[in-house]
Amino acid sequence: MEPEKQEKLYCVKMRASRDGEHVSGAERIVPAAAVPTVAAQLAARALGHSKGTPDFINVKVERPGEIVRLKALPVATHVTHTPAEGYACAAELLRGVGFTRIDEIMALFRETYNMRGAMLLDADTLERLEPDRARGVRATCMDDADSLAKGTAAGKNHYAEAIVLATKVQHTPGIVGEICVSDDPDYVTGYVATREIGYRRITVIKEKGDPSGGRIFLYRGPREQVPETIRFLERQAVIVEDVPPLEDGKSGMRWDLLADELSSIEASGLGRRCRTLDAPTGPTAVVDGKRLVVFSSNDYLDLARDPRVTAAAADAARRWGAGSGGARLTTGTQPPHVTLEAHLARFKGTEAALTYATGYMANVGIISALVGKGDAVFSDELNHASIIDGCRLSGATTVVYRHNDMADLDRKLGGARAYRRRLVVSDAVFSMDGDILDLPRFLETCRRHDAFSMIDEAHATGVLGATGRGLCEHFGCGHPDVLMGTLSKALGSEGGYVCGSRLLIDWLRNRSRAFIFSTAPGASAMAAADAALSVLEAEPERVGRVRENAAFLVAELARLGIKASTQSAIVPILVGDERRAMSLSDRLLGDGFLIPAIRYPTVARGASRLRVAVMSAHTQDDLSRVATALAGCR
Ligand SMILES: *Cc1c(COP(=O)(O)O)cnc(C)c1O
Repeated sequence: MEPEKQEKLYCVKMRASRDGEHVSGAERIVPAAAVPTVAAQLAARALGHSKGTPDFINVKVERPGEIVRLKALPVATHVTHTPAEGYACAAELLRGVGFTRIDEIMALFRETYNMRGAMLLDADTLERLEPDRARGVRATCMDDADSLAKGTAAGKNHYAEAIVLATKVQHTPGIVGEICVSDDPDYVTGYVATREIGYRRITVIKEKGDPSGGRIFLYRGPREQVPETIRFLERQAVIVEDVPPLEDGKSGMRWDLLADELSSIEASGLGRRCRTLDAPTGPTAVVDGKRLVVFSSNDYLDLARDPRVTAAAADAARRWGAGSGGARLTTGTQPPHVTLEAHLARFKGTEAALTYATGYMANVGIISALVGKGDAVFSDELNHASIIDGCRLSGATTVVYRHNDMADLDRKLGGARAYRRRLVVSDAVFSMDGDILDLPRFLETCRRHDAFSMIDEAHATGVLGATGRGLCEHFGCGHPDVLMGTLSKALGSEGGYVCGSRLLIDWLRNRSRAFIFSTAPGASAMAAADAALSVLEAEPERVGRVRENAAFLVAELARLGIKASTQSAIVPILVGDERRAMSLSDRLLGDGFLIPAIRYPTVARGASRLRVAVMSAHTQDDLSRVATALAGCR
């Protein structure tokens, strides 16, 4: 600590409250010239606080006495995913540096929420030492050397401010530790700090939206020294140097903001992780020695592991190579690509077909080739994300119509005659609800308005129609202009495709950037899909079986009092709350059933569901047992 006389620095402090309750506070040490700007910035910050609009804002400007410069505490981050994990982490850190009675200390956070400052607590006797319990003690009059050097208040940086405060507090005579839980309902982080272990950031320590929080300063020493401790905290001007970046090698606010938001995502039950399934896709899998019935696969007809399909893939890889080596328009077109496209066109009854690397890319590539600036695209509100992204990328005006509501579509098309080209796009089977598009009325509406019609058959091919040809076969009606689908679901391979007129395919080959500027899928994926189509044509009974299985499951669920319905192989069971959906999914996993929880942003917030995907290879026993397990969840 080196005392220093500073002539031209001022301490600017802001406190905001509502109905006498603390809302927010901050401070800076700045040169005289920056005082007006910084005072205004801090006032603006008080007005924008998520804890509510204050009715009292106090901005105070003071000349500090001598200024002490301190080196920032070293920083480490503990990534936690739940409040319970965060709590356990804090407790372990405190125990590690010799504190006891940790549960009792943590329980005191119930009392810190409405305190304006921190609780000053004897670490051993748990006696509260702050003279005014509603006010607490406040660590003020401090800043980091970096923002001082910049001369104005930098943006709101919770992270740097917290380290500055923690550094000052841990250099205060008599203070031996601090525990902080953010009192901002938008933040779920907290930290534990001591001189010994430095500043330990804990990414999740409370529930998102929880307004409780606060600080506890832990004190050890004679009672006579308490006034000096409080004086130092409240009046001693401190500048903290070398506030370290947020994580080694991942420094800066840009990462701070990501890390904080990711923590919030985790805390609200929306975190996403990949589960490794150490088995070929199929109706069952063995994970950690435990047999699971899999209800999460889109391999509806159990073709991904069919020996005829895998042999075709292996043979093609041996013959044509693992990768295609280039885009389709350069070196990436090999005989299996051509053969498959002809087969797809035959299967769907169209003049021509074109493949893409994935279904996602097909949607993005088709939509953005057919419409652009000055055009309009009409999209069902429940369409798949790849359609939504295609609409966005196209630059066309996107008009979202009500789910499967052809009257609404008709109205919206009628009001959009000024656009050069119009495209209407819909899922054939809605992937999170399992219901199907009213295709005859869809086609009639599109034709009447001279709009392109496009359907996405990702979950329809192999599932709908007597022989699995999709929605047109199901309704026995004509084709839309654009029939898009994926090779990665019922066809058990990977890649996307589009079937339609020769003119459409020629257009896409010339204008679809996702087709032109991406390497062609490898020959083995093409050959596998081709073989799968042949199996499907030879064994159409698989299609009937998958639908019978879905109907059987719905009937079993109804018998057990669970409302569910489907027109496809997808049986959604609505849950609502995100965390509840996750916990049900975990519980079902414990019972031996792999059923994913589908949450925001895949579906709307509060519309979480368990999505059961039925395969032709599930047995009635599998289906009865999963229905019973689902019924047991309520
Ligand atoms: C899965 C899916 C896609 C994307 O297909 P991929 O081949 O997996 O990229 C597109 N649309 C719908 C409706 C889907 O369900």
